[in-house]
Amino acid sequence: MPELPEVETTCRGLATVLEGRRLSKVEVRRPNMRIPFPKGLAQTLTGRTIDRVSRKAKYICLHLDDGHVALAHLGMSGRMAITRPTTAPGKHDHVVFDTDDDVRVLFNDPRRFGLLTLTTEDGLATHKLLARMGPDPLGDDFTPTVLSAALSGKGTSIKAALLDQRLVAGLGNIYVCEALFRSGISPRRKAGSVAGKRAARLVPVIKEVLTEAIAAGGSTLRDYAQPSGELGYFKFSWKVYGQEGESCSCDPSGKDGIVVKRIVQTGRSTFFCSRCQR
Ligand SMILES: [Zn+2]
Repeated sequence: MPELPEVETTCRGLATVLEGRRLSKVEVRRPNMRIPFPKGLAQTLTGRTIDRVSRKAKYICLHLDDGHVALAHLGMSGRMAITRPTTAPGKHDHVVFDTDDDVRVLFNDPRRFGLLTLTTEDGLATHKLLARMGPDPLGDDFTPTVLSAALSGKGTSIKAALLDQRLVAGLGNIYVCEALFRSGISPRRKAGSVAGKRAARLVPVIKEVLTEAIAAGGSTLRDYAQPSGELGYFKFSWKVYGQEGESCSCDPSGKDGIVVKRIVQTGRSTFFCSRCQR
C-alpha cells in the first residue's frame, strides 16, 4: 500500500509534468473506483491548466486554474504512471490525463480502492474526506504540544493511537513501528503516558523517518512503481519493520539473544525490541 512517502514521491513526480500544463483531454474509463466519479469530471478537467500539485495526508490535490481541485487517493494498489500519448491505456488504467505537451498520465489501480473526485479551493478544508483528518505529520502544525494534547488521557496503545487518522493523518504501519523504535517507546505503552516528554521525543523522530523515506524515494513491501512508470527498487533499511526474529541493532553480534519481536495490535503487525523500547 502506498504510504505517505510514496504519495509525496508521486506528487513530486506529477508536479514536474503537470504544473503549468493544460489538460488537452481527460478520459474516464469506468463509472467508479472506490466511489463513483463525479458527473462531468472529464469535461470539468479538460482544457484547464494545472497550477499546482499538492499533498494533503495521503491525498493528491491537482489545483486547477478555475478554482477546482481534483482530489485523488491511491488506495491499496493505485499509482500514477507518466507515459506518452502513444501508450494505450490498459485494463486497470481508469483515468487518462493528456497534456498539451505530449505527456499522458495513467491512473492505474487494479484493486480500485483508490478514488478521484472534485472539489474547490474553498471546499478543500471542509471536504468530507478531509475534514476529520488530524494534522499532516510533516506539517508545521504537528508539534509535541499538539500530539500531547491528542494523546492525553487516552487508554489505547500508542501504536493504535498513531494509526488513528484523526490524531495524525497519513502515518502508516511501517512508519509508526520505525518511529516508536527510534524514539525508544514501547508500542504497548498507553497513549496517555506518551503525552509530555515522550511526545516531545517522538514528533521529531516521526518527521525524520518520513523525510528519510521520501529522500530514499518511498518504500513499500513490494517494489514500488515510480510515477515515471519505471519500477523503483527502494530499499530502505528498516530497523524493526519486517525484521521478526532478526538480531536487534542493540545486539549486533546476537550474543545477548535480543531479537525483534512481532505482535498483533488492532489487527496489524507491530515489530519492536523489548530492550530498546520501554
Ligand atoms: Zn534492541
